[in-house]
Amino acid sequence: MKKSQKVPAHEVRRADYKVPAFLVDQTELDFDIYDKTTTVRSRLHLRRNPASKGKNAPLILNGEEQKLLRVVVNGIELSKQNYALTEKTLTIEGVPDEAILEIESTNVPAKNTALSGLYAAGPMLCTQCESQGFRRITYFPDRPDVLSQFHVTIHADQKKYPTLLSNGNLLKKGKEKNGRHYAVWQDPHRKPCYLFALVAGKMDRAASSFTTKSGRKVLLEIYVEPGRKSETGFAMTAIKKAMKWDEETFGLEYDLDRFMIVAVSYFNYGAMENKGLNIFNDSCVLGRSDTVTDADIAFFERVVGHEYFHNYTGDRVTCRDWFQLSLKEGLTVFREQEFCGAMNGAALERIRTVSKLRSFQFPEDAGAMAHPIRPDSYEEIDNFYTSTVYDKGAEVTRMIQTLVGTKGFRKGMKLYLKRHDGQAATCDDFVAAQAEANEIDLDHFMLWYSQAGTPVLDVTSSYNARKKEYTLIVKQKTAPTAGQKSKKPLYMPLSVGLLDAKGKDMKGTFVIDLSLAEDQLTFLNVEAKPVPSLLRDFSAPVRVNYDYTDDELLLLMAHDTDPFNRWDAGQKLFSKFVLSGEKIPAALIDGLRVILHSPKLEAGTKAQMLALPGEADLGLQLLASGQLIDPIKLYQARQRVIVAIAEGLQDELWETYKTIEKRLSEKASDGQARGQRSLKNLCLFYLNKIVPEDVTPLAVAMVSSSKNMTDKNTGLDLLIANEAPMKAKMLASFAKTYSKTPAIMDDWLAAQAAARQPDVLKTVKKLMKHSAFTLKNPNRVSALLGMFAGNPFGFHAADGSGYLFIAEQIIKLNKINPHSAARITKPFLRWRDFEPKRQKKMKAALKLIQNDAKLSPHIREIVSKALKA
Ligand SMILES: [Zn+2]
Repeated sequence: MKKSQKVPAHEVRRADYKVPAFLVDQTELDFDIYDKTTTVRSRLHLRRNPASKGKNAPLILNGEEQKLLRVVVNGIELSKQNYALTEKTLTIEGVPDEAILEIESTNVPAKNTALSGLYAAGPMLCTQCESQGFRRITYFPDRPDVLSQFHVTIHADQKKYPTLLSNGNLLKKGKEKNGRHYAVWQDPHRKPCYLFALVAGKMDRAASSFTTKSGRKVLLEIYVEPGRKSETGFAMTAIKKAMKWDEETFGLEYDLDRFMIVAVSYFNYGAMENKGLNIFNDSCVLGRSDTVTDADIAFFERVVGHEYFHNYTGDRVTCRDWFQLSLKEGLTVFREQEFCGAMNGAALERIRTVSKLRSFQFPEDAGAMAHPIRPDSYEEIDNFYTSTVYDKGAEVTRMIQTLVGTKGFRKGMKLYLKRHDGQAATCDDFVAAQAEANEIDLDHFMLWYSQAGTPVLDVTSSYNARKKEYTLIVKQKTAPTAGQKSKKPLYMPLSVGLLDAKGKDMKGTFVIDLSLAEDQLTFLNVEAKPVPSLLRDFSAPVRVNYDYTDDELLLLMAHDTDPFNRWDAGQKLFSKFVLSGEKIPAALIDGLRVILHSPKLEAGTKAQMLALPGEADLGLQLLASGQLIDPIKLYQARQRVIVAIAEGLQDELWETYKTIEKRLSEKASDGQARGQRSLKNLCLFYLNKIVPEDVTPLAVAMVSSSKNMTDKNTGLDLLIANEAPMKAKMLASFAKTYSKTPAIMDDWLAAQAAARQPDVLKTVKKLMKHSAFTLKNPNRVSALLGMFAGNPFGFHAADGSGYLFIAEQIIKLNKINPHSAARITKPFLRWRDFEPKRQKKMKAALKLIQNDAKLSPHIREIVSKALKA
């Protein structure tokens, strides 16, 4: 049977890629904005693609959710018989090899609750076009390999929409009749339509400038809803840091006269890298020192950096098709991580990154929608903006840097950007440039782009005392994943060090290239049997099994010169005691005590070393040992270890808390202060498990009188966790104070949805009726429902009520915003990982969703893949 006969009609496959039949050299857009509708007139300068084989192929344009008014080819208006219009396409036969196509259509931004295309975001109009939103604005070949120069005119009422923005440079602006005005923007850089942006509305503006290394002055602007200008400081600082870092690290200088950020309150993603006009979810960019948490400050820098770095890796060189998404995202997340590491400490950043990978990407790689970083097929591309494409993609990029060295990697980047500037490229192009610049063969390495699943390295060792030889045997295997039964060995770097019995690093770090099902490596002149430090700095996105004794792990935790592995040794010990139920040995408590007292370690690192692996990561480890997950039992097992640590370290935790509390200013928010605050609050978190009566008064004081939002939120979390009698009153007064600040109210919603308590569903149902919540805003949905869907006592309640509740919300939200609904559908993908009773209930909830007749393709794809055998 031919493969194509088995493919469902709505599936898009990478293997079916064809170059576009027509190119659009120039795109002129004219937006006429009125309260009810927006009229879009486009003039496309079309040319038949010489590379296309279909010499007489019709012109097919994508278009949805708009009213088509006029189609004109080379000045002649077409009657309806001359084109074919469906719900999703406009097809025109017999278009000349060169043509000017004019199209007029209208759309209704105020009714666009999907937040894709042109929509009303509170008081302003804005756009989101990645991946397929542009087709909701006008008819166009909406694919990333059609690059065009955009010339945009916007007309609107001057009072209602005083600011009119689009990509590139402002050519002119002026007044029109009837109180209206216009602005004309031109982007000199060719780009695909997914990078198009338009914003119109009443906004406040913060401005500054940056002088590039070649001496050009770039205007920096941040546009916000009226009254929020005082919240732009963190972002403005972050832009400048990012611009400077990219110049110094990769030699990349900003390429337009102005760089704009617009913050909007309704947005499906974190932010979007539209050329010269980045649009941000306000939760990722705005805040004053008295309204942001430490996590916010770090996150703003991260997201601003990420979007800015896309200017080269994404905008100047874009993706040929959406299967290549990791080309821009994996690479840009990697660049973002390097930037944050340079700003705040490389080890801290690496540990954060890997914790996140283990909590989100590893489960994804083991679930029903497991896919390689470059997927082979999709039904709805929106569903593939995943941790795999982004975070594992970044790890794959990092492995190339480890294999060729930092200098070599930068040489490869230079060649890649030079060779593909202004083009739509593929993942193969990027790897080929790295291979060529470094004269290394990366053919085998390409398997990382097509093979899904987390590889496991089983490592054994032997020591020959007579010959003084130490041998490591590494066997690699990857378990089958959905649609990929057999797996091949991958090419990867394994960084290894050896410690002697006293914890001294014997030989430094070796990078071993693995490529076989079984690799063997022998170290010569090893004076005594060493303890191996494996996968230093997490040199590959894999799991490592090695039969360490507790003493060996304690040695690594205390002495490894590799900070990542020092942390990871602790994680291994924690995991072991959570999953085995064994008593925590005094030696582990002693080891943690030494860490807490160490004058050499930064407070932030100490906090990371004292934190247990998350429930998601532990659940996967349980599965790896052949057991199914009972989320409540797993939660309790984790709590048991937390309590044991708290009891063992009670005095030191108090002492650490008090020392930091005394000297740390509430206003301090630099990296060091953030680290100290995280350690101080972690101490309280531990103590709250054993002496809640002593912590409660401190928590009450934090909520009511601290001026620091991180401390206020921690206070709330502590009160919620120990069910303090003051809880309800404190929550209510907090809500009253911050009712006008949605970002803070999101934390308030999330803290309650995260409560590990049996009545959490009741709380969440009540909160859905609170004025701070609406299903229409994705941030509110993530805060309340997203958080609930990760709560063992909520989503995984034994009676199935949590599954049913989320299923009902998905069905409701499917009609409002499929993207937002898809996000809370994904936890169902792993239903097979849970114990039989929960499996049954999760499956029933999935069927309930599946039975909804009006399911969007987003949800349909997830549900059908989840249920597929
Ligand atoms: Zn990105």
